[in-house]
Formats: sequence, structure tokens, C-alpha cells
Amino acid sequence: MTRDVIRIELPETPDRAWCEAMDRADTLASLRDQFVLPEGMIYLDGNSLGAMPKAASARAHDVVTREWGTDLIKSWNSAGWFDLPVRLGDKLAPLIGAGGGEVIVCDSTSQNLFKVLSAAVAMRPDRSVLILEGSNFPTNNYIAEGVAAATGGRVTVRLCEKEEIADAIDEDTIAVAITHVHYKSGHVHDMAAITERAQAAGALAIWDLCHSAGAMPVDLGGCNADFAVGCTYKYLNGGPGSPAFLFAAKRHQGAAHQPVTGWWGHAAPFAFEPGYRPQAGLRQFLIGTQPILSMTLAEIGLDIHLSADMTAIRAKSMALTDLFIHLVEQRCAGHGFTLASPRDAAARGSQVSFAHADGYPIMRALIAAGVIGDFRAPDTVRFGFTPLYVGYADVWDAVERLVAIMDGEIWKQPEHQAREAVT
Ligand SMILES: *Cc1c(COP(=O)(O)O)cnc(C)c1O
Repeated sequence: MTRDVIRIELPETPDRAWCEAMDRADTLASLRDQFVLPEGMIYLDGNSLGAMPKAASARAHDVVTREWGTDLIKSWNSAGWFDLPVRLGDKLAPLIGAGGGEVIVCDSTSQNLFKVLSAAVAMRPDRSVLILEGSNFPTNNYIAEGVAAATGGRVTVRLCEKEEIADAIDEDTIAVAITHVHYKSGHVHDMAAITERAQAAGALAIWDLCHSAGAMPVDLGGCNADFAVGCTYKYLNGGPGSPAFLFAAKRHQGAAHQPVTGWWGHAAPFAFEPGYRPQAGLRQFLIGTQPILSMTLAEIGLDIHLSADMTAIRAKSMALTDLFIHLVEQRCAGHGFTLASPRDAAARGSQVSFAHADGYPIMRALIAAGVIGDFRAPDTVRFGFTPLYVGYADVWDAVERLVAIMDGEIWKQPEHQAREAVT
């Protein structure tokens, strides 16, 4: 169960002194020391790629030189490489309200979504519709299209927007597969209500936790979710391309089967049998050899989260995002920013988006000024707030730099106009 999050109220006109006092009183403030944060940079993109824990470079060095370099293949056993997916899954489980043996760390979010959607399709053979959110991060919908195409026409994908989801669910629904916190707006879906609605119609509820794992309390067990996926490189600070996770409720293990039947999912992987036999448990969701280097680094981010109180993380996250909205609206009034995230912090993840017709050059100018956020087409500037290493004074200073860019029309300079490949 998740505990209640205590709301932190903002004063009417917060100033930098208030921000500094909040930082001094912040019980999470000491965690910032565990991260590498370049001098002068305000990093508001931990929702896309989390900052690097200081412990990561020593761990990477040890894995490369000792576990790989010296111990070589013995490390599959002696360093526990083979069990990493399960061991890390058990570490991640309490962060998302899952039990032991319900979470496995492996592959990418896209791949894991393919596995659970395919399993769901097989579990509901007399139904034909997968429901997803049309405006979701596109890979989820692309993957669903692929899953549907592989059924040769039996299954179709129905894309809905948030208000339409509940009504779209009926006796023909295989599963509802929604991202808990919307990648662009930061809107939080009601996991308990949608799960209940889906299950009342006999459908399965699949949750993507890419923008919620590590950023806010999640209660998959309390909501009775069927399956979930998510990544570890955003709020969980696992490192670029670190492996994703997959949750399968205990009740489905053994009954749910995914179609990418590789040897790591085999009942006896080292028996080298000629035919495939699935494992009964969670390991059936594995395919093949995992990226061990990335996996070992993902553990560091998980350990940091396990040392922090998730309700304190959520309380600070809501306060930081409230503060950012308040300051941007107050100090950049008249500069054309429109809030594109829910105003109520309870309905919002740990990010804030504003729509602005010149969002791209404004974000380029901000990045040049050391405030790292990102741009999402066509017009959204997006800022992620990771309470582990972002403080109240950082929010103040970020807005200060934005004010300078807007008041001084610095974003109009030609060097901020050209598009880069990754935005
Ligand atoms: C970040 C994110 C992904 C990432 O998928 P990859 O397979 O890691 O590239 C997928 N879905 C959502 C909703 C995301 O936010």
C-alpha cells in the first residue's frame, strides 16, 4: 500500500530565499551528492535520461576489469550475471507495488510491451480489440500494430484519448494498455479505475510505467494490474539504454505465454533440448542473453531509490512542479506560454510541459544557457523534475534564465533555430 502524500503549500510569491530555505529543510537533499551533475547545469531532463550516479563509474570499471576481464565466463555464476534479471526485478518490485517474483528486468520497453500484448492476445482468444491511447509515446502504438498484424487480421488496435478509454472497453476488449503518466502532458491516468473497468468487462489491464517508476508511488498490486512494463533509464537513473522491466501478476504466471521463445525462457536452458518448453514462472518472459554491463549499472539507480522514501519523493515532486508552473506563469506572463500539463499536481507526473509556438528555439536557447529540458513536436517544451537531485533553488534559477531568454529575445538568434537530430 502507498501512504498518503503530504502536500507542500507554496507562498503567494515565492522568492529565492524561500527556495533556499526549502532546500535546507529538504530530507532528500543529501541524495543529490550521489549524482554527477555538471557545474552550472540545471538538469530538467531526468524524465528522458536520468543523471549518472557517482557510483556508476567504479561499478562499471569493476565489471569490465574484474568480472569480465579476469573472471571471464565464470562470472555468469560467481558474479551472479545469470540471475541479474530476477534479482533486479525483486529490487524494483517495491517501487511499483509489486511482490517478489513478479518483476523481471530485461530487454527494452518496446520489446517487453510486445511480449505482454502478445501474451494478452493469446489469453483472450475470443476477443479482438487492443485499446491504447492515441497520443501516447508512439512506440507503444507501433508495437500494438505489430502484434495485431501478426494475428493476420483477428486483432485490431483501437486508439482512444483519455476521456474515451472507459467507454471504449467492452466484451470484445482483449486489453487496455495505457501509459500511466503521459509522456508529453504528464497527465496521470487513474490506474485503479481503468484497471477495474477493464477487468469488469473481462479484459486485461496493462500499464506502461516509463514516466512513473521512480517518480511517484505506484501500486500495481493494490490496483490488481495484470501486466506492466517500463524503463529504468528515466527516473530510475539506470544509464543510457539500460534494460527495461516487465511485471506479470503472480496469477498469470504459467498461464501467460509470450511468443519470442528464446532459450532464456526455456524450462531448462542448460539442458539444450531440441524443442521449446516454457518456464512456469516469470523467466518465461526472458528471451536471450542480457546486456550485463547495463544491467549491473541499473542496480545502482535502484539502490538509491530504495534508500529514499517514495512519498517524500512525490511530495517534493509536486512542490517543484507547482513552483515551476507558478514562476513561469508569473514571470514570463505575456511571452506566449500555455500550460500543457494538468494544473492540479495530483493529476500530474513529475514533469511540466508548456506549449509555445517558438518552443524549439526557446529550448535551444535554454540548453545553451545551461537549463536542460527537451522539446516534443510540434510545440511542447518539456521539463522533468527528479526530486533526488533537483532542488527548489534550481527551479528558481531555471526560470530566471528563461526570463532572460524571453525578455532579451535571445531565442531569436540564428544559432538557436537549426534542428538537431535528437530533440
Ligand atoms: C521512454 C518510453 C519508451 C521507451 O521505449 P524503448 O523501447 O526504451 O525505446 C516507451 N514507451 C513510453 C511511453 C516511454 O515513455
